[in-house]
Amino acid sequence: MVKPVLRNKRFDVRNDSTLCLFIETCTGQKHKFTVTNVSAGGVLTKTSENFDEQDELSVDSMIPYGKLIWDKSELVLGRMTIRRVRFDQETTCHQIAFSVVDSEIPVEGPLGFQLAESLISESSSSQLEIDPERFSLADFVNLDDESIDLFSRARKISIFRREWRKLPQYAYETTRKPSMGPRVTLQTTRRTTRNNFIVMGSNDYLGLAAHPEVINAAKKALDEYGFGSTGSPVTTGRSAAHVELCDTLAHMFRKDNAVLFNSGYAANIGAISALANSGDLILADFLSHASIQDSLRMSRATSRLFRHNDVNHLETLLEEHRHKHKGTLIVTEGVFSMDGDVSKLDEIVQLARKFNARTYIDEAHSFGVVGEHGLGLWENLSGGDKVDVVMGTFSKICGGIGGFVAADQEVCDLLDLMARSQIFSVSIPPSTAAACLKALDLFQRDKSLLTRLQENIRYFVNGMRSLGAPLAPDHASAVIPVIIGDEKKLGLMNEVLLNSGIYVVPIVYPAVSRNASRFRFTVMAPHTQSDLDLVIFQFEKAMKAADFKFEEVVSGATQNAKQGRTTPINLAS
Ligand code: PMP
Repeated sequence: MVKPVLRNKRFDVRNDSTLCLFIETCTGQKHKFTVTNVSAGGVLTKTSENFDEQDELSVDSMIPYGKLIWDKSELVLGRMTIRRVRFDQETTCHQIAFSVVDSEIPVEGPLGFQLAESLISESSSSQLEIDPERFSLADFVNLDDESIDLFSRARKISIFRREWRKLPQYAYETTRKPSMGPRVTLQTTRRTTRNNFIVMGSNDYLGLAAHPEVINAAKKALDEYGFGSTGSPVTTGRSAAHVELCDTLAHMFRKDNAVLFNSGYAANIGAISALANSGDLILADFLSHASIQDSLRMSRATSRLFRHNDVNHLETLLEEHRHKHKGTLIVTEGVFSMDGDVSKLDEIVQLARKFNARTYIDEAHSFGVVGEHGLGLWENLSGGDKVDVVMGTFSKICGGIGGFVAADQEVCDLLDLMARSQIFSVSIPPSTAAACLKALDLFQRDKSLLTRLQENIRYFVNGMRSLGAPLAPDHASAVIPVIIGDEKKLGLMNEVLLNSGIYVVPIVYPAVSRNASRFRFTVMAPHTQSDLDLVIFQFEKAMKAADFKFEEVVSGATQNAKQGRTTPINLAS
């Protein structure tokens, strides 16, 4: 991997105290300057000392000897010429620019190199440069920074981000202005007269975040309970709305009970790390969501990843490792968050039975979307098979926030007492619990929500397939990945789409592997077919503008997507 090296032609030195220049003139006078900028051409300094311009340091005078004192070490600069002397009214300092005339120790030579290395780590400059054309976010994720300053990595990332934003194809930062539903108003960094964008990247698949009954339920609970829940569930954070929500979930998932968490992320890290203990084994799909991957790091159990949706690999791992451990948990997602494909749950559950393992399914993207009644993939299990633990989130089906785990009472008891992310964190506000209850109620009563969503998914998938997108004709989830592979083309196409009023989210590493960057379209029940037609039409335009063809990526990136994204956990062979 190419390391992002800052261009070392110019260094703005903000941290005044760390770099100063002492100059001894031929008359023996010593002047101290604070260096503010070092470039290949010279040094820019300032001084607040009582400095007389008429002194021997006037423009074009030669300084025979100068010392740069930095971090207690002395660096001889050799002879210099004064190029500019200017009094800055604002800072009441003299700005003095020197240029180096001695080629014995030019700034561009070894000294310059040393300066570059040192100043990068010492300076807090905002004007260091990183060429955003050469690097992508991917280069900074695992950046091995050698500086002793803890924030040096942050500085580099921040500089990259600033430069990145300047590029036309990335210059859109979107913020939603007051508006909701499948069409919204955005505040973009680009000037545009458009104020109506079709949302194609929302998690609110059923459009319930904007449903008047859901909003009213939240308002009523706000009046009754106030703003927050006031504590974690083990202290003051459990309201009647929370309890009712647990009962509803238990009923929907045909489990004894449910445990609430303040996000889906918190549910996975809390539940998985609490369930599997030291001496246990966790086997999870390679393409598991970050929250699952993080839970593996947090758990005291040993963890292994099986190749994406590869039950043969899962079986091999079970054969090799199961006997070395006490309990075993197999973790998978119903619908995978970035690829939108579904897991082979039937076979996984059978393997779990064969190897005496427990199963945990994350239904974040399947609850409200797939399954006989839209309750998730577990509904499709044949022969009365069951998943031991069902995890879900309110951020998709309800368009809200909060996570949950539904399971047998014993498991819920353990999680109530041991899942740290819900014990040591405030619970969702009662108004959120009430809104989720209303959203779940609407979902169960109004069957057209699910059918509309499923019809829209089919319609959009067919449309994208007609452009050549390698999507399965029976693609069932609302997550519709369109892999572009090349981040520059992705950015360019994003620009075209935004200009045409299509609001979709480009996804890059580390969310997906490096050459599988993509648009992650999500379809909503309230989209009209003409909305979707427009998106497909504009996408074709974007493809032409970026000279993109699906054949470019079909073999490389989709293959890569199957192999998995970069993960901190070793893939067992
Ligand atoms: N699991 C999966 C599979 C997800 O995709 C996500 C996030 N979209 C989460 C868990 C976390 O859910 P939340 O955003 O509600 O915290």
